[in-house]
Amino acid sequence: MGDLDRKGGGPRSAIVVGAGIVGLSTAWFLQERGVRVTVVDREGIAAGSSWGNAGWLSPGLSIPLNEPAVLRYGLRTLLDRQAPLHVPATPDPRLWQFLARFAANCTHRSWNRAVRANLPFNEECLEAFDILTASGVDAPTIDAPITALFETSAKAQTLVKELDRLGDAGQKVSWTQLAGPELREHFPQVTDRIGAGIRIDGQRYVDPGRFVESLARAVVSRGGTIRHRFEVAAIRRHEYAYTLLSANGQTVNANAVVLATGAWLGELAHKWGVRVPVRAGRGYSFTVPTDDPVPSPMYLPDIRVACTPYQGGLRVAGTMEFRKPDDPLYPARVDAIVASARPLLKGLRWDQRTDVWVGSRPVSADGRPVIGQTGAPGMYVAGGHGMWGLSHGAVTGKLLAEQIATGRQPEALRPFDPLR
Ligand SMILES: Cc1cc2nc3c(=O)[nH]c(=O)nc-3n(C[C@H](O)[C@H](O)[C@H](O)COP(=O)(O)OP(=O)(O)OC[C@H]3O[C@@H](n4cnc5c(N)ncnc54)[C@H](O)[C@@H]3O)c2cc1C
Repeated sequence: MGDLDRKGGGPRSAIVVGAGIVGLSTAWFLQERGVRVTVVDREGIAAGSSWGNAGWLSPGLSIPLNEPAVLRYGLRTLLDRQAPLHVPATPDPRLWQFLARFAANCTHRSWNRAVRANLPFNEECLEAFDILTASGVDAPTIDAPITALFETSAKAQTLVKELDRLGDAGQKVSWTQLAGPELREHFPQVTDRIGAGIRIDGQRYVDPGRFVESLARAVVSRGGTIRHRFEVAAIRRHEYAYTLLSANGQTVNANAVVLATGAWLGELAHKWGVRVPVRAGRGYSFTVPTDDPVPSPMYLPDIRVACTPYQGGLRVAGTMEFRKPDDPLYPARVDAIVASARPLLKGLRWDQRTDVWVGSRPVSADGRPVIGQTGAPGMYVAGGHGMWGLSHGAVTGKLLAEQIATGRQPEALRPFDPLR
């Protein structure tokens, strides 16, 4: 295979499948280690969940999804079309198998394990973004607290308990409880219905689409290639290399491959021995104009809605819907977000919403992402970050590039071994 021959040492070239935050971060950090990269995507840059998400880089709130409370909540609201968590009544046996496995992991033990596994990621995730922005990624990450808003201080106690549990597991997080009047003084958007809040300090936010597009430009300016409309349909393995074939007859070769296909990871990764299932937990977002500027991100945990200052307005994101990633956008889900948030926030022109979007969180069955080498040498996966793939995307790329280039699994990636 010509220059693809490789007799020892790290790979000279790699193909990254998926141009989201995880794939492009991996490509960028591989370039740091002298690996030539080609990124392919079935559509283009940030075509998956990396575009319309809430944009939070929030190590202090990276709470794994597999909480016992999520299971109780899910069972209570199962099949309710208006509920923030929705499972359609479809006869999809693989979805129900996945949900059964996910439910079996909604225990304190499994949740604590996921929290502890995330600790090094939370510790390093902002620094990994700083490396990118210090070296050519031209999109700011903005320091700001995230403020959770509740109708009563009794309701705020659920998050207080969660933050305490995170603290017990070793997560450093600094937070302060606030009363309604203080919240209204800071946020012109908060209505009288809000009576309590929790401000989580030391977090950041970004315009995620702008960030990922800028990251893609940086990969190209460092000599990488990005191929759009390259949907990987088949992969052939050679002695020291792989050939990827696209659905429309194109091919590309390299020594190593990283599958970073977000909510589409399941099928491709399964062929290489990865048995941790990943399914789409779809979320919706849109942008609304506001009468007054929004000073910093707001979180409405009781209705599971995240709000972030975005291009002069407010991006509103929420819901978790277990459907296939390519299913259409259901406007009723957006209406449900508006109906639940309208009484809690004012000065938002809900009816002038734009950028209505649906995207798929890649949710793994045990609350932990899958990052590392598969059953085949030179074939890697990086995905399944669920609710926190933006926050953890850059550090994932940094650590996985280290593993690919050195052949040694970094300690922080052990709990995320794809063959667990
Ligand atoms: C509503 C919502 C709000 C969120 N808010 C936050 C937040 O505030 N903070 C946070 O940390 N996380 C947040 N997330 C989660 C975060 O968006 C995801 O975890 C993250 O974007 C996953 O990135 P990724 O690169 O793994 O996947 P993606 O961005 O989905 O990228 C996968 C790419 O693979 C491509 N692809 C798929 N199959 C193929 C194939 N066969 N061949 C070629 N290409 C293929 C797709 O086109 C896509 O571009 C949110 C998610 C949602 C839905």
